[in-house]
Amino acid sequence: MFATVTKTQSKAGIDHTSAVPRTPFFLTTSKCVTRFESGLILYAAHGELKLTSMAAAPQTHILIIADTAVIAKRIRRLLERVHSASYTSVAADKAKEVILASDFHLVVLVDLLSHNPNPLSLLFNIQKHINVIAFDSLAEANARQVASQISNAQLNLVSVLPLPCPNARLQSVMERMTDDLQAGKLGQTPRSVGEIEAAIAQGLIIPWYQPKISTLTAELTGFEALARWQEANGDIIHPSTFITVAENHSIIHILTRQILTDVITQLRDWWVDGHEWQISVNASVDDLESDDFVTWLGDSIERAGIPGSALIIEVTESRVSKNFAVLLYNLTQLKKMGIGLAIDDFGTGYASLQQLNRMPFTELKIDQSFVTGAHLDKDKRVILENSVSIGHGLGLEVVAEGIETGEDWWHVRKCGVDIGQGWFIGRPMAASNVLNWVKDWETRAEYFVDPPTLTSQLKRWLSSWIRH
Ligand code: C2E
Ligand code: MG
Ligand code: MG
Repeated sequence: MFATVTKTQSKAGIDHTSAVPRTPFFLTTSKCVTRFESGLILYAAHGELKLTSMAAAPQTHILIIADTAVIAKRIRRLLERVHSASYTSVAADKAKEVILASDFHLVVLVDLLSHNPNPLSLLFNIQKHINVIAFDSLAEANARQVASQISNAQLNLVSVLPLPCPNARLQSVMERMTDDLQAGKLGQTPRSVGEIEAAIAQGLIIPWYQPKISTLTAELTGFEALARWQEANGDIIHPSTFITVAENHSIIHILTRQILTDVITQLRDWWVDGHEWQISVNASVDDLESDDFVTWLGDSIERAGIPGSALIIEVTESRVSKNFAVLLYNLTQLKKMGIGLAIDDFGTGYASLQQLNRMPFTELKIDQSFVTGAHLDKDKRVILENSVSIGHGLGLEVVAEGIETGEDWWHVRKCGVDIGQGWFIGRPMAASNVLNWVKDWETRAEYFVDPPTLTSQLKRWLSSWIRH
């Protein structure tokens, strides 16, 4: 897939490769829209089109460390197939000089547990918080140990992947990492309370929308609204840098109401146009325990003239309730208004099954950590399958988040999940991009029910050729 590969081999056996794309292909496999004769590149990042020169475009620097230089090189070839970047591969015993000499965006560690010397302490001292992907030939058995060693060294673990690793899985992990790097999500410092307050006041924090799809029919059921902070220069700041701060300083109430106000206005416009979608909005436990939230929300939907059933409120399991009785009462009031209630990130928090049973939830969202790559990982599979049983047993609609590949999609369908959400279906997008996405989805949806065969692909090409 890559055209020009420039390569230099240093005396120390350190191998540097820079894969330069010839085709309209840059940074991530799906993002480059086109490359002009002048050398300018038009690429899509976070739903926005950006124009840049090839030279000015950002490049990811990746260091691969394996037991031997030969294995490191082999992994580099694997990565080059799916991801354009500047690569340096090195054997573990030569890693120190490389780590000391340069900065990297990502370190790839191969069979970490067998490394001698172990590069983690070195990375800890020099490149703390660097992003790490670990490949492990025994990923099923070693994944937990590898993950905890990396986290203990205060490095930022992106993923533990098996070896051999399917291309689609590798590609999706690399895309996620590049996206996060571009968005400044990885290693981005949290925003201050003052900055967040100012951004809310200026209307810079707005909802983006990520589609939710029925696994049975591939029909669009609605969207999840996800907060995005759009800076004046076009940069998008992700919620990880401001939601927790907002929650800890009680400005989450203002933020949640701002997002809900935008969503309700958007819902009204879509419903008036005949798009009766359901939008899920994340709320903090603190919102749901406040005195006037239910009345405020009831008034807002009434004024907009939309039914309560157009909204789902998602509550994450990880925030501990300060006042369970109030929370329970308010959730019950919302349910009476027809509003759906989802328990988010199921499997990662502290809710006991008894609490879960007492809460009037209508939907259970299985956390993406048990969905992405579950078909390759026995532990994830067990948690996913049991979460589906618990959800269905309690009469809830079960949603799986983090569907990143076709394998994830077919697997969650097989497990009996009702609704799917993830990059494989569609990424969060600005409201202005939603209708175009839906049009495109309608041409693709059938392949999410029946996997494409050679005949169906031929039919599809033929009909699109006749149409044009
Ligand atoms: P969440 O509610 O669990 O949202 C799902 C997160 O998964 C979103 O991250 C979404 O962009 C990401 N995601 C979706 N599909 C995939 C996939 O296939 N692979 C991967 N790796 N990720 C995927 P995002 O937008 O960064 O939001 C993170 C969290 O921030 C949300 O998790 C939610 O807990 C919180 N959040 C976002 N918006 C709001 C908000 O308006 N209010 C509150 N209180 N919390 C919010
Ligand atoms: Mg959510
Ligand atoms: Mg979630």
